Amino acid sequence: MRVAVNTPVNTLFDYLPPDDHTPVEPGMRVRVPFGRRRLVGVVVAVADASELPRGKLKPALEVLDTQPLLDAALLELLTWAAAYYQHPPGEVIAAALPVNLRQGAAAVPEKLLHWCLTPQGAAVACADLARKAPVQAEFLQTLANQGQCDAGALRAINSNWRKTMALFEERGWVSCGEAAPDDTDSVRDEPPLLTEFQQQAIAAVPDTGFSACLLEGVTGSGKTEVYLHLIAQQLAAGRQSLVLVPEIGLTPQLLERFRRRLGACLAVLHSGLTDAQRCDNWLRARSGEAQVIIGTRSAIFAPFPAPGLLIVDEEHDASFKQQDGFRYSARDLAVWRGRQLNIPVVLGSATPAFETLHNALASRYAHLHLPERPGSARQPEVNIIDLRTYQPTDGLSAPLLAAMRKHLEAGDQVLVYLNRRGFAPTLLCPECGTSEECQRCDARMVLHQQRNRLVCHHCGSERLRELLCSQCQTELVPVGLGTEKLEQRLTGLFPDHPLVRIDRDTTRKRGELERLLDSVRNKDARILLGTQMLTKGHDFPDVTCVAIVDSDQGLFGTDFRSGERLAQSILQVAGRAGRGDKPGEVWLQTWYPEHPLLNTLLHQGYDAYAEQALNEREQTMWPPFAHLTLLRAECARKDVLFRLLEQARAAAVPLASSDIRILGPASSPMERRSGRYRAQLLFHAGNRARLQQFLPVFRAAVAALDDARRVRWSLDVDPIELF
Ligand code: ADP
Ligand code: ZN
Repeated sequence: MRVAVNTPVNTLFDYLPPDDHTPVEPGMRVRVPFGRRRLVGVVVAVADASELPRGKLKPALEVLDTQPLLDAALLELLTWAAAYYQHPPGEVIAAALPVNLRQGAAAVPEKLLHWCLTPQGAAVACADLARKAPVQAEFLQTLANQGQCDAGALRAINSNWRKTMALFEERGWVSCGEAAPDDTDSVRDEPPLLTEFQQQAIAAVPDTGFSACLLEGVTGSGKTEVYLHLIAQQLAAGRQSLVLVPEIGLTPQLLERFRRRLGACLAVLHSGLTDAQRCDNWLRARSGEAQVIIGTRSAIFAPFPAPGLLIVDEEHDASFKQQDGFRYSARDLAVWRGRQLNIPVVLGSATPAFETLHNALASRYAHLHLPERPGSARQPEVNIIDLRTYQPTDGLSAPLLAAMRKHLEAGDQVLVYLNRRGFAPTLLCPECGTSEECQRCDARMVLHQQRNRLVCHHCGSERLRELLCSQCQTELVPVGLGTEKLEQRLTGLFPDHPLVRIDRDTTRKRGELERLLDSVRNKDARILLGTQMLTKGHDFPDVTCVAIVDSDQGLFGTDFRSGERLAQSILQVAGRAGRGDKPGEVWLQTWYPEHPLLNTLLHQGYDAYAEQALNEREQTMWPPFAHLTLLRAECARKDVLFRLLEQARAAAVPLASSDIRILGPASSPMERRSGRYRAQLLFHAGNRARLQQFLPVFRAAVAALDDARRVRWSLDVDPIELF
């Protein structure tokens, strides 16, 4: 049989079935000897033949499941993804499993289990045990007193309870059984009366059969409402729905909204859960008990035995692409999976990714529109402030402050957006021009004044703030504006209007983001200041004014996607204004009011800008009009790094068909990061299939190079960032 083992080796491994002849099927986990270790693997295929002689094969030690943990469709998805993204299949399959199951835990939801004493366990003399092993004795005592305990009760005794229960089971003192799930009946919310546009969108999504649609609806237009209706239809037909949301979009409010509308049949999958919770939810998805599965990127690999509908909300969001290790795109896999399972896929966004838009324009996807907000809510008006006319002080111009004051005095909330945390991005010597740099990266240290530290936002290294220039001993001055400085300035200007700052620094502690968001919702906070964290998914009904302090840097980005990203972030943050009954206003400060991006975007809208930008992409042959793969490499030694990339290039030339262009090697825009030099080779092809044929051969050729072991390298298929 062929087994996927969680190692970075790009192959499956052959084993014999276990000696005890336990039946084994694809999708079951087995424990196998692997070198000197014993690892958990997943059987991918049961084959009679192997390329290795039978005598060389070892038997599996143990079969861990009585039924396949991964069904055939899921195995097929994972195998396909491993091949497409050029990643080892063992690691891909491991990534799809919750940690506990990956490590071999029983595939039974923990919260459904309970433990009780066997007659043998009841006969153990606790007094004796209390001297030798007091914790064990306490477990026994509690089990004796309560008759049976669930995981929660046992955890309350000691966090090491799993080990102890395993030991007790081994000794025959306890037995473990499954309890019936309790049905929690929750309060249900009534759906609102749908708008004409919502009805049309819902009607356009077929109940069954594969179809992909782009649901393009302006911010606040009721996309979520459309999802809820489609999900309810699937529920009524007894089918499951899988919903993917961006990393910071999976808020308790969203879950609450889903729960109150759909009932208690939700399984949530994201990184904020404990391993046990994630495992339970995964198993509830697999058993079909959970009819709605909602999660972040990796939920695309959730088991889906009664598939009905796949939804990707805010499909343009960068968090759907994993940026290290197994670099998959959950959005792209969603479409693949929809086709595989023959079910509808809905991709929703106010600012669709150009790839998706292109597919819709080419009629590969249906294109559904929600052009306005329901009821009296209107799209906010965007006003441009020309900073050449209105010189700002500390980043704030007079018209911006006047607009803020007007809204604050009317009792409404104002959202101030600046996507740069810290106090100031540079600490500069006014005498000799030296700035404080990170010692491990080609980057400046950011001043964090409250903590009196300099922090590198790329590698995380920190040091105490320097006061004097190391070159000429002049006093250093902070230059530029971050959210911390803006907070200081705004609290000075508006002392009567409480401010909350929401960025990664103020929300580091667990639960802190929730606390801050609550203060916004109950209107304690009047000014909401923050980074991109504030722009995603939140519904702040009392925000009537959005101030975009500075987004100019995005106008001159080096990546071919910079414009697309900037347009998306401007519209997403603008979309936070006027979501309630009161109309909203947006003020955007810029030194470049005539920039074509701003002009088209703000006067003609996202689709007009996208159309222009897509035309440019077509002329210059960038995605979606071409396909890219990056060979990313990093190494502490620059000479070794470039030697490898030159050799990789030389290896690629005879392997690549003539329509694959090879660009580089080139240093990344930020050449050194975390003490390592970074560079890359870019492969550019008009034909995806041709590129896919080339990649596995090329990868094998690179792996065979001597320097391949001295350099950290990986292939990034369909990269979304070119550095
Ligand atoms: P989106 O997902 O496009 O941002 P939502 O579905 O969250 O939009 O809707 C935005 C707001 O409008 C929410 O407060 C929602 O309850 C409300 N809403 C949505 N559809 C309707 C409708 N048909 N009638 C009244 N209110 C609606
Ligand atoms: Zn650094």
